[in-house]
Amino acid sequence: MTADTSRETSLHVELVHWTGTLFPAYAAARICYSKDGYPAVTPLDTEADMGAWLRDRVLARGHWGILEHLTFTFAIRGISRACSHQLVRHRIASYAQQSQRYVDKAGFRFVVPERVRACPEALARYRDVMGTLTENYAALQALLHDADPAANAEAVNEDARFLLPNACETELVMTVNARQLLEMARQRLCSRAQWEIRALFRAIRTLVQVQVPVVFENMGAECAWGPCHEGGCALAAEYKKQPGW
Ligand SMILES: Cc1cc2nc3c(=O)[nH]c(=O)nc-3n(C[C@H](O)[C@H](O)[C@H](O)COP(=O)(O)OP(=O)(O)OC[C@H]3O[C@@H](n4cnc5c(N)ncnc54)[C@H](O)[C@@H]3O)c2cc1C
Repeated sequence: MTADTSRETSLHVELVHWTGTLFPAYAAARICYSKDGYPAVTPLDTEADMGAWLRDRVLARGHWGILEHLTFTFAIRGISRACSHQLVRHRIASYAQQSQRYVDKAGFRFVVPERVRACPEALARYRDVMGTLTENYAALQALLHDADPAANAEAVNEDARFLLPNACETELVMTVNARQLLEMARQRLCSRAQWEIRALFRAIRTLVQVQVPVVFENMGAECAWGPCHEGGCALAAEYKKQPGW
């Protein structure tokens, strides 16, 4: 029998909005040294000029706080609850996530790990469990509704969701500043991070490098910037050979 794969989802990330110009960061940096304050700060002719100025005068000196004046909003879908739980541990970002109370998750979509997909027996069992959970989610909703016809849909969903797995697809919108995005990537682009959140940050990196290459050209794991403290990959082993490790 051919499996119904229509509920198997995959990562999709869109850049909804970003500050759109380097000027807020440029102005923030210039104001530090401007006797006459903001009125005396005028944009340079081009984004490229402001980018080069920021790179040479600010970023090269490690003044990362200036990057907090650039923000990015992403719409993220096709990730699992396992992944979103890791993402929201980063506290210096703002999130809005699809509710499992207000949204009826009947026939929920789910993520299939590649390791599972590559093993036919594991994949069959995985799909089987997802099917069972789907049936039982709907059955539990019906039972709870019958037991208390006055209960509204949110009340039923909020209890039925206890049956939803980590694999269940979620959606969220995340707004984060450029400095924090680089910090998050240091952890989440590391080969020690979980594959799904790494894929998410690779997708985010592709989007922001197109918009603001000067800020994100080095976006990467801890070891893209200096010695690694995770200690578990080939790159880290190379760093350990260096003096001062
Ligand atoms: C490979 C990997 C494995 C992990 N495994 C686990 C695990 O097994 N269990 C688990 O619970 N977590 C785990 N985590 C999550 C990890 O512990 C962090 O919670 C998560 O990565 C967010 O990091 P953060 O606190 O630096 O980030 P953020 O919350 O974004 O904070 C950014 C920075 O702000 C500062 N900051 C924020 N809040 C405070 C505060 N209250 N006090 C002081 N400074 C603050 C810190 O400098 C912090 O680095 C793992 C993460 C990775 C990358």
